[in-house]
Amino acid sequence: MSEPEIKFEEKEPEVVLIERICARLRKLLWLHHGHGVYLYGDDGEMQCSSCMIDFKRDPINKIEQEFERQAIEVAAKYFHKIV
Ligand SMILES: [Zn+2]
Repeated sequence: MSEPEIKFEEKEPEVVLIERICARLRKLLWLHHGHGVYLYGDDGEMQCSSCMIDFKRDPINKIEQEFERQAIEVAAKYFHKIV
């Protein structure tokens, strides 16, 4: 009795290209979002211990929501200074 053949699904070249572009954009976002001293990047990880975003795995909408939350927080602090 032979072992069943395992077929690995190959991705379309366009999908691979999009995944590579997304990975590069996530890396740029991770490196330049303003929390340089809090970045963790060992073993290919892209995390920030300040805003607790996992730039490698978190969905884009979660990252976007966290940035919006931070912007509102900064705006509120500024507003309280001028009022
Ligand atoms: Zn951060």
